[in-house]
Amino acid sequence: MEVKAQYLIMEKDFPGLLKALLKEGIVEKIIGAETKVSKKTGEEDRFTVSPILWSNPDEIEKFPLSNLIAYGYARTDSASKYLHKSVDGGKNQKIGLIARPCDIRALIELAKIRQVNLDNLFIIALEEQGLMLDVSKNLKKAKNIDPSKIIKEKVDDDGIIFLFDDGKTKKVEMDIADNCSRCSQKKPVMADISISNIGLPIDSNSVILKVYSEKGAELLEKSGIEVKDLPNDIKNAHEEKMKEILEAAEQKWAKDLEEWNQLSQEQKIEQLLKCTMCGMCIRACPVCYCVDCILQQKRKDKNIDNVSYQLTRIAHVADRCVQCGKCSNNCPVDLPLSLIFQALKKQFAEKFNYRAGSSVEDIPFRSAEAIKQMELEKTA
Ligand code: SF4
Ligand code: SF4
Ligand code: SF4
Repeated sequence: MEVKAQYLIMEKDFPGLLKALLKEGIVEKIIGAETKVSKKTGEEDRFTVSPILWSNPDEIEKFPLSNLIAYGYARTDSASKYLHKSVDGGKNQKIGLIARPCDIRALIELAKIRQVNLDNLFIIALEEQGLMLDVSKNLKKAKNIDPSKIIKEKVDDDGIIFLFDDGKTKKVEMDIADNCSRCSQKKPVMADISISNIGLPIDSNSVILKVYSEKGAELLEKSGIEVKDLPNDIKNAHEEKMKEILEAAEQKWAKDLEEWNQLSQEQKIEQLLKCTMCGMCIRACPVCYCVDCILQQKRKDKNIDNVSYQLTRIAHVADRCVQCGKCSNNCPVDLPLSLIFQALKKQFAEKFNYRAGSSVEDIPFRSAEAIKQMELEKTA
C-alpha cells in the first residue's frame, strides 16, 4: 500500500481526528476505546481497554491511544469482531474503526464471505510492535511501581516502558505476546490512515501519522488539527526500528515453526488433549462468524471429545486464519494454537499461493469459484 504523506501530529489531537470523522459525516459511528473504571472505587484500570460505540462527537473526550497500542482490546474483543457483532459488519452504515494489522486482515477475510462491507469503513490502522498481555498481573511482581501514577506506556523489545506523572520513566521486563513476537505482518495491508509510535521516545508528545487514501487526506484537512511534515531523523528512526522488529519476528517465526515441526504426531495430539473445550478460542477468533456454532452445540450435548473439537475447529478456520493470535492469547491451558495455524499457513502459501488477509482479490482455495477454476485449468 502506497504511503501518500507522512506527518507528526500531537498525541492529544488524536480524539480531534475521531470527532471530525463524525462531524464531517465521513462515518456515522466509530468503534472507539475506553479504559475500565471500577464501579466501586472509581479507579481506572489502564491495562484493560474495551471497545465502545460513539455516534456523537461530544462523546469523545479522550482516547486511550498508548494503552490501546500496547495492550489491545482486552480478552476476546477486537475491532473486527466488534464490527461484525455490534454493527452488522458495517453493511448498512458507515463506520470508523481503529484496527491492528491482523484485525485488518480479518476484515478482508470477512468481506470475502460478505460479513463486512469494506466500502463503508474508514480504517485507522495501528502500526505497532505487538501486544503486552497480563501487564497488571506482572506489575504486581515488580516493586516500586504505582500503576495510578502511569500516564503513558510503550512496548519495547524486551519489555514495556512507562512514563509517570512526575516525568520519570521506567522499563519493566516482560515478554510480548508469543504470537506477536513472530508476527512479521505489522504493517497494514489496507487503511485510510495509520498511527504509530515506533521510533519515537516514550516522552515524545507526538505520533507518526501516515495517509494512504483520498478519504484519509480529506479527514486530515477537514479536522483542522496541526500537522508537521515528518522530520527525516524521525522517519529514519521509525523505518530502521520497524526493519529490526520485522527481522527479529521472522527469525522467531522460523525457529518456533522448526521446533513445532520436529514434534511427532503423537506429541502434537498430546497438546490437543489438554483442551478443556471452554470455547474461548472460538469467541476470540475474528474470522469465526457462525451465529450458531456447531462445536459449542456438540460440547453442550456432550457429543464430542476435545481432540475432535480442536481438529474440527482447525478444519473450519485454518484457511481463513489471519494469524492474530487471539485464540492463543485467550487459551487458559496455553495451547500453541496460532503456531498450529502458522504451520498450516506455510503449507497453504506453498501449495495454493494463498495468504489469508492479504487481498480482497484473492479467491479462497476452498471456495466453489476456486474449485471451478481448477477444473477449467485441468480441462484446458
Ligand atoms: S499479531 Fe501482529 S499485527 Fe496482530 S497485534 Fe500482534 S504484532 Fe500486531
Ligand atoms: S485461528 Fe487464532 S490466530 Fe487465526 S484468526 Fe482465529 S484467533 Fe486469530
Ligand atoms: S481456548 Fe484452549 S482450552 Fe479453550 S477450547 Fe480453545 S483450545 Fe480448548
